[in-house]
Amino acid sequence: MYHPDRIRHPENCPALVLNADYTPLSYYPLSLWPWQTAIKAVFLDRVDIVESYDREVHSPSFQMRIPSVIALKQYVRPSEHPAFTRFNLFLRDKFACLYCGSPKDLTFDHVVPRRAGGRTTWENVATACSPCNLKKGGRTPREAHMPLREMPIRPTSWQLQDHGRAFPPNYLHESWHDWLYWDVELLA
Ligand SMILES: [Zn+2]
Repeated sequence: MYHPDRIRHPENCPALVLNADYTPLSYYPLSLWPWQTAIKAVFLDRVDIVESYDREVHSPSFQMRIPSVIALKQYVRPSEHPAFTRFNLFLRDKFACLYCGSPKDLTFDHVVPRRAGGRTTWENVATACSPCNLKKGGRTPREAHMPLREMPIRPTSWQLQDHGRAFPPNYLHESWHDWLYWDVELLA
């Protein structure tokens, strides 16, 4: 029988890393380790294997199925604030322009323009469509008469996770579904 796992190259077998409480270590980005790291952690007794791919790796001294889901033995306190990345900023704003709500042609806008001292921070960068970005130019929202629909804030990891339910990662191995959101499978 054809089974995609058997022909899967090991490089395409990342392990989903769960915390000791069996929730993903992080969602954004999704906590994934390359298979080598996962197997090393197994041998160092730092993780439990929760599920495995069908694909095996062999060496002269051992053979084992590549872990597809592993759980840390020691609990790691999740960080309260997610990394300030382009993806996370789009996710905070739900992939829509904070000026007009358009989901198309998105870029970033400095709310207080850089030349007026505006910094590149969560609180001063907004998702904006290119037309709004152009229209606003080097002005503040007040000067441009372009009010923000929401004030840009530094989100907590929980807030991003909440928004993320609508934007699941592109690739999810079947063995990961039990450990992710209930609704990911329904939305994917
Ligand atoms: Zn816009």
